[in-house]
Amino acid sequence: MARTTKNYQLKCVANGHLNSEEETTTYCTECGSVLRVYYDEPADGLRYPLDSLVPDPLKSNHSALTHLGRLSKTYNADLYAKLDFEHPTGCFKDRGSYIEVQKALELEADAICVASTGNMAASVAAYACYFKIPCFIFVPEKTTDAKIAQATIYDANIIRIKGDFSVCEGLCRKFAESGNYYMAGDYVFREEGQKAFPYEIQEQHDGEFDYIFIPIGCGTNFAAIHKGYQELKEAGRVSKIPKLIALQPEQSSPVVEGIFKKKKIIKKQVNTMAQSVAASDPVDFEKVLIGIQDTDGAAYTVTEDEILQSLKEMAVEEGHFTEPACALPLAAFKNNLDTFKGKKCLFILTGAGLKDTKTVAKHSLSSPVLSPDIDKIRNYIESGYIEMQKESWGKSRDTFMANLEMDEGHQELYNDYVSDFNKKGKTLSNNEIEVLQSLVFNEDVDLDYPAEVLDYKLTMRKHGLVQAKVKLDIEGKEVITEASGVGPIDAILSAMKSETDNIFLLQVSNHEVEILSPDTDSLVMVTLTLTNDGKEWVSKGASPDTLEAVIQAFTKGLAIATKGAPA
Ligand SMILES: *Cc1c(COP(=O)(O)O)cnc(C)c1O
Ligand SMILES: [Zn+2]
Repeated sequence: MARTTKNYQLKCVANGHLNSEEETTTYCTECGSVLRVYYDEPADGLRYPLDSLVPDPLKSNHSALTHLGRLSKTYNADLYAKLDFEHPTGCFKDRGSYIEVQKALELEADAICVASTGNMAASVAAYACYFKIPCFIFVPEKTTDAKIAQATIYDANIIRIKGDFSVCEGLCRKFAESGNYYMAGDYVFREEGQKAFPYEIQEQHDGEFDYIFIPIGCGTNFAAIHKGYQELKEAGRVSKIPKLIALQPEQSSPVVEGIFKKKKIIKKQVNTMAQSVAASDPVDFEKVLIGIQDTDGAAYTVTEDEILQSLKEMAVEEGHFTEPACALPLAAFKNNLDTFKGKKCLFILTGAGLKDTKTVAKHSLSSPVLSPDIDKIRNYIESGYIEMQKESWGKSRDTFMANLEMDEGHQELYNDYVSDFNKKGKTLSNNEIEVLQSLVFNEDVDLDYPAEVLDYKLTMRKHGLVQAKVKLDIEGKEVITEASGVGPIDAILSAMKSETDNIFLLQVSNHEVEILSPDTDSLVMVTLTLTNDGKEWVSKGASPDTLEAVIQAFTKGLAIATKGAPA
């Protein structure tokens, strides 16, 4: 089919080399610089470099532009947020994928491939799936489950790689060269899709912003926003472009560093909880530099702790739960209040919070599982744990756990556990402390133990059989029992039961052993399900030693089962 004459040219940013989109849609074939679409004439409205455009099949509305009333008041500025996670896959990248996938179809590619830390993969997968073109995504092993799930539901061919984003990118590029594949990503046609952002703002909002705060990974979104504004300016639809602010985590900041040095920096590796902006080789650095110079913008970094605090503040104060990358605007704003006081600022919130629940889980205390008992629930609420849970956001767990106020009975129980551990020359990890807390909160402090184990000994027999000899205290009397079993747990339970079944018959219908870390002296949690005559009790024990945890769980289970039971 004959192509229509195009009303645009592809040129590289560094040297203005003319390129053909049939040959490349990523880098300049002459000098390797990034490419940009230049239209022959300014246009009155938004236009795309496509022969024909299908209206976005997955989305028909703008992402919200909202005033941040409380934060404006707190910080004495006029603050707005563009909720640019309100897209089909929960991230602004859909703006670009919508155009890239159509370009791939127009160029008659056999498939699309893309390297990504997750959001790009999910987004390209969604549009490729709708437009029925095969899609290969290359993602690092660390990619969050939520983002992988999105790619999975959209039938992408998922290639998980031991390595970071740049390793994935290198492989994806090789893969693209091996066939008639369109390499999607932070390239020229994505910019054309994402430039819709300022056009949308024009429709949504009267008046101009002084500053726009943009979290940066490869810099493509920043570049696209700048390009959109330039087009609007050329068409005479805006008189001035807001100052564009480029933001990165201190631990992943090649763009910000490069801006100060005025040359592109490539890092060996980057590491930040804001995974979506962790790019060590920022593809669109040159365009970001141009955007900052053109708008008299600025670039800032923020620390991991500032990211956590601002992530929380935005959720608590304004209700917007985002992924960590979106905390960069508020964090940088707060670090530079003198500059931004009284100004009209727009924060771009780029990705939804549900994309990355791991960061939240990692930086907060989890809630213990409680028995379904209203008194225990009240007790728990009054324990101070919940307040502590809120205060503990992002801080070290140890300090907080030490301040927990339990009632006397539970405190005693907890101390018993801990001293048991200390006696074995072991200190508890944070995770283990949490599990113990949870266990103790569930425990009934006034249990009478009809049987306690004073000592035990195991002997290995032929054919994997184990002989257990157990010294028990049964209601004040010492008894020695013996039994054999197919393993140590089985043997010790059989030995105990040969005596305790006379008090109360208990079947062990299930046992689970959970080891909390790979260390040899890790806390072991044993959960026993005990039954008698259709009734069921669940009981837990915890110790660095599996058998001791089993013994605890069983003797406790017996105490629970006999409590209130007719003697
Ligand atoms: C991709 C992404 C960014 C960074 O965009 P770039 O175009 O790579 O600079 C920021 N936030 C989120 C949530 C993203 O997915
Ligand atoms: Zn060039």
